[in-house]
Formats: sequence, structure tokens, C-alpha cells
Amino acid sequence: MYSISTLGSHCALQVLKGAKDEGFKTMLICEERRINLYKRFRFIDRLIMVKDYKYEHVCSEPVINELKDNNCILVPHGTFIASMSVEQIERIDIPFFGNRYILRWEADRTLKERLMVDAGIRVPRTLTLDDLDNGKGKVLAIAKLHGAAGGKGYFLASGKEQFMQQYNRLLSKGIVNSMDDLYLQEYVIGVPVYLQYFYSPLSKQVELLGIDRRYESDVDAISRIPAIHQAYARLEDITYTVIGNSPLVLRESLLDEAYKMGERFVDSVKRLVKYDMIGPFCIEGVYDRDGNFIAFEFSARIVAGTNLYINGSPYSYLLYDEPMSTGRRIAREIKLAIESNELDKVLT
Ligand code: AMP
Repeated sequence: MYSISTLGSHCALQVLKGAKDEGFKTMLICEERRINLYKRFRFIDRLIMVKDYKYEHVCSEPVINELKDNNCILVPHGTFIASMSVEQIERIDIPFFGNRYILRWEADRTLKERLMVDAGIRVPRTLTLDDLDNGKGKVLAIAKLHGAAGGKGYFLASGKEQFMQQYNRLLSKGIVNSMDDLYLQEYVIGVPVYLQYFYSPLSKQVELLGIDRRYESDVDAISRIPAIHQAYARLEDITYTVIGNSPLVLRESLLDEAYKMGERFVDSVKRLVKYDMIGPFCIEGVYDRDGNFIAFEFSARIVAGTNLYINGSPYSYLLYDEPMSTGRRIAREIKLAIESNELDKVLT
């Protein structure tokens, strides 16, 4: 008997509900302050309390022993990445569903871009300071702090002068020490779309399980007030903090290319990364006015936007005649791998 476990946060409810629906025992590693939330859900068989999600607490001897005693398979999500270093995640002595070695590619901007370019996915142009005022006028750029997650510390600048104002502000606050701390990218005008895929190493098929868009504060809040008031709002530190996600369906004519992009991504992982893609991943970007997709990120594991579809999405319903969340799809893949004696194909 195997059990499925994850950290209490991000998409833990979806993952464990899916695991229970597929007949697994479920175990949640949960920090003290969140126990009251997770106690409410009967599909969680066991709560293992830890102080917080730092490596030394999640991987303490008693926790690891209990997970091992229960033949546990861990499902990684965004909170693993936010709480531990890539090296620590690679060291965890419990089998992971998914390719834990690709998380290194997700965390490093250069590797990330290499993988997307290899997959023939368009990415925004990388800019130098001189590109901000070209012969034709000012260029709108987004400056990203290296290592910053979820848009924290990002700022927009039209032209060099605006950029320098913002840069000097960050310098004086000690947030950056030099230009090397920032990464300048062309700001692509388009609508943000998050494509939620699943790759099955057993069937060798890519499935599009859902699509969402994020609802981010301040950036989605600012469009609710007229431009005259925007000018007086304290916009210099506009944030992209994700507050929630909304469902989205694509124009059907865009679906074929969305599928092909997912397939090319899986092929590139095969070529460039130790171990193939396994399970959920997400390509994140914008569609421009011509319907071209330009990607600024990928997540090589389950994303929180899949929480929209605990009961299935329009796209999963086209593939499965039953409610199929990404969490449940993970458990289904594990179950099929156990039955066909191919667990090694889905675990690292
Ligand atoms: P990220 O941390 O890369 O997911 O980015 C946070 C947010 O910044 C995204 O949800 C987008 O809205 C926005 N963003 C990032 N890069 C770009 C870009 N090159 N062009 C337009 N918007 C971007």
C-alpha cells in the first residue's frame, strides 16, 4: 500500500483529494499555524505536524521515518520551491512524483530561457540599457530582480530616464547593489494565459488539463481606476502579488498550437535535462493581438491555478468522462504505474 503526501499549502487540498479519490492513503506534512485549516478535510488521513517548511523540519528523522514506513510518494509544488533550496529538494530521501532535477532549470533564468528557446517557444527580448531609447522612441521594459518570485520587486520603465529613476530608488533602499542584480526584458503587451499541461511517461501523451489567468494585486487593481487617479497612485512599487486565479478558455483555433507547444517542451526536456518530463507543468505567458504566444515563465510541476479545476476543467472533461483534476491525474498516473510495475518511470 502506497501513500501520497505533500506540504500543507499551495495545492495540497487538490492533490490529496485526488489521491484519496484514486484510493491512496493521504498524509499531509503541515506547519503548526495551518493545522486548523487542514483538520477540516476528511480525505486527509494523517497530519504530520512540523514547525515550518524549512528543510531541517520537513526532513527531520521522525518525519522521514514516518513517510518511509508508509511507502510515501511526495508531490512537489510551489511551496517546496519557496521554502527550500534546489540542492535541498534534490536531497530529500523520499521518492518524488515528477522530475525533481528540472526544478533547477525552473529556478535559473538562463537555464529556463534556454529550455523554452530550444522548444521553439517565443520569449520576450532581453534588453540592455541602450535598447530602452532606440531610434524610434522609448521602449517599454520590465525589470526583474534576479531570483525574485511572483513579480516581487519588478518594475516597468518607458525609456532610459524612467529606468534610472527607479533603479536609483532601489539602490538607495539597498534592494539592488548594481545593474547585475536586474534583468531587463521587453514588456509584451498581451493578455496573460497559463497553460496547464500533464505529460504521462506511461502513455507518452501530453494532455492539456486546464487554462487559467492570475488575478494580481496591484496590477489588476490599477485598471479599475481612471488614468488621472492612476497618475497620483503610488505606482513606483506596483506589485504582481497573486491573489487568486480565474478560469479561461482559449479560442479553439489556438488550441492546436498550445498542444504542440507542450509537446515541444517535453521533447526539449528529454534532450536537455536529466530524466524526462513527468506529470504536470505549466507554460506561462501572454497572447498578443495576432494570437502569438510569448512565454515569460514555465513551472515544471503542478501550479496553483489548477485549484480551479478540482472537479475537472472544460479541457479535462474532453479527455476524461469523470472529474479529473491535475491532483487526481497525478494519483491516477501513480496507480497505473504501480499496476504495470513501472513506478520507476514516474518517480525520481
Ligand atoms: P513572473 O514572476 O515571471 O510570473 O511574472 C509576474 C507577472 O509579471 C506576470 O504574471 C505577468 O503579468 C508579468 N510579466 C512578466 N514578464 C513580462 C513580460 N515580459 N511582458 C509582460 N508582462 C510580463
